Amino acid sequence: MRVRFAPSPTGYLHVGGARTALFNWLLARKAGGVVILRVEDTDRARSSEEATQAILEGLGWLGIDWDIGPLFQSEGVERHRADALRLLEEGKAYRDFADPAAIRAEAEERGVHPSRVAREKADLVAEDESAARAAAGEAFAVRFRVPAGETRFTDLVHGDMRFGNDDIDDLVILRSDGTPVYNLAVVSDDAHMRITHVIRGDDHLSNTPKQVLLYRALGLPEPAFAHVPLILGPDGKRLSKRHGATAVGEYESQGLLPEAMVNFLALLGWSPGDDREIMELDELVAAFSMERVLKKSAVFDSDKLMWLNGKRLAAKPTPELIDTVCARLEAVAGVDRVRLQDAEWMSRLIDLIKSRARTIDDLADQAVPFAADELEYEDKAIAKHWDKDPAVALERLEGLARLWADVDWTEEKLEEGLRGMAESVGIGAGKLIHPLRVALTGRMSSPGIFEVLMLLGKDRSLGRIALGIERTRDLREKRLS
Ligand code: GLU
Repeated sequence: MRVRFAPSPTGYLHVGGARTALFNWLLARKAGGVVILRVEDTDRARSSEEATQAILEGLGWLGIDWDIGPLFQSEGVERHRADALRLLEEGKAYRDFADPAAIRAEAEERGVHPSRVAREKADLVAEDESAARAAAGEAFAVRFRVPAGETRFTDLVHGDMRFGNDDIDDLVILRSDGTPVYNLAVVSDDAHMRITHVIRGDDHLSNTPKQVLLYRALGLPEPAFAHVPLILGPDGKRLSKRHGATAVGEYESQGLLPEAMVNFLALLGWSPGDDREIMELDELVAAFSMERVLKKSAVFDSDKLMWLNGKRLAAKPTPELIDTVCARLEAVAGVDRVRLQDAEWMSRLIDLIKSRARTIDDLADQAVPFAADELEYEDKAIAKHWDKDPAVALERLEGLARLWADVDWTEEKLEEGLRGMAESVGIGAGKLIHPLRVALTGRMSSPGIFEVLMLLGKDRSLGRIALGIERTRDLREKRLS
């Protein structure tokens, strides 16, 4: 088995492209086949070096590797041209001398396809005259002469496909400037690279009968074809920027884990046939088959991606997360390096918040109140747990400060003390925990309060409670004035 991923370097690596690459890769890895990366850069004006780099980086981040390449389609232009000219020589293609604009105008006037007009005009010119005009230097495009009949092939996803050749236009295979056209270049390259399976997006399905005709006309062996379903946004429209990030690189910079992205992409249009959702790469390879690729379009569900990422994150060994989280904390929250260098403390912190986060960014964000020296209070946390009744909040924080001034700083003692105090005041523990959480983290939600107290340690906890006392006192004064 030899497969290829053939991106056009005209932009970033799109999630759809990445999914196509992944399906090729999974199939080849399962079969012990060869993966070829071919960059389709024949459209010089739209292709760029940066886009090529972005695609290679995106694949690298996902862990999709290849055995041969990157090869560049532009390297094969002479061969593409030779194949087109061979078809011309064998009478399977013809020269089109007409000005494309004139052809289009006439076709429009008559309400027919331009290739029909082109063929009629070509048929009016005798072969020796056509050759003589070409020899004299007149520019011409080469059009493939689509034979009568129908074109059939078997698609590994869609089954038997039949196309009436009447509906297929005489396609240009070589432009008048001598550059080959996509359908010809692809056939020439796939045959030359001995590709056995062409796996690509459904958007190419209408190209395939043209390519099959070209294989047959050139006498080249045909590969098997598989067209994988389109990816749609939640509104049922083709996935686009309107739906959010479509570039694989954007997910990387959002701090998603590549293994979550790969897991998610694999499930876009394929399922293992059981209820497994969280799958490792080796499990995906073992379970993958073209038979289980769905015919209908797949919907890109970002919630599911985030869910998968959260699951992956929680399962990831903490030491592997420390560097990334620290880097984000420094970059995003400008957190002091010194604290971040305490790996033991960092891993306690990450252990505590890991299962509550869905992304690395989320993880870093939840780490901020612990890692940063300055506490930032959320407005809604203050409004809900302090400012509704500042006098009460103040009283409770003062009570906790007194209670814990000399306590043994252990989780059991802290919990015992807090619960005892709640009971003696005749309130639920939550009435103490909520204002305390705001004082300790500045936030509405956090991990369990006693774990928070342990992680912050006695001095920082009491310092923050003291700060909370000051703040709630200010709030109370404001009420009174
Ligand atoms: N270069 C084409 C694209 O990016 C893919 C061609 C193919 O897979 O046959 O859409």
